Amino acid sequence: MDQAFKRKLIVAMADAMIAHAEELTALDSAIGDGDHGLNMKRGFEAVLADADNISAKPLPEALKAVGMALVMKVGGASGPLYGTLAMGLGKALPSEPSAADAAAALGRAIADVKARGKSEAGQKTMLDVLIPVQAAFAAGGDDLGSRLPAIAAEAADATVPMLAIRGRASFLGERSIGHMDPGARSSSLLVQAICSVFNEA
Ligand code: ADP
Ligand code: MG
Repeated sequence: MDQAFKRKLIVAMADAMIAHAEELTALDSAIGDGDHGLNMKRGFEAVLADADNISAKPLPEALKAVGMALVMKVGGASGPLYGTLAMGLGKALPSEPSAADAAAALGRAIADVKARGKSEAGQKTMLDVLIPVQAAFAAGGDDLGSRLPAIAAEAADATVPMLAIRGRASFLGERSIGHMDPGARSSSLLVQAICSVFNEA
């Protein structure tokens, strides 16, 4: 993976978070404290500002640098969790991964997020998007570049009727039902952004 491609991935993810900051904040206003859009925008603006430096590193080191920036800049619950995801990917991926390597690394990084968040599938969080995306990625097959974004979007929609068990939304109890989880939506947007770069290649 060359520097230009890594840079494109950073720009696509940052653009998605910046373009959808208001939407993510609106989702978090309904069942949280209304900062998720700003949190993600701030984190990815920091990654974008360092994009030349980060993209020059080998993939594992680049992902660790992204993870560190997210932990430091995103804040909230989601900063350490997205940071853990990126750093976990950096630890688990070789410099030139196959699709199978990438799927396995994503599985290990998700396990790190679960451990950090003491969370699992079905609790109305980002994991409700990350887990089905990883499962489909690991199963492989044709058209992953178009299927994974669709799976992510459906999985984010499927958080609407869920009861929040983790994160700030869990404080609302039954009132968390009927709203999409903001972290599930940001994960879905990031999956879309990453796939769009691979689809163009
Ligand atoms: P905060 O809740 O601290 O304000 P954000 O608003 O940035 O942080 O992020 C909220 C999102 O973080 C939630 O929508 C959810 O997807 C995710 N989240 C929160 N707690 C957990 C957890 N324990 N495990 C997994 N994801 C979590
Ligand atoms: Mg919040």
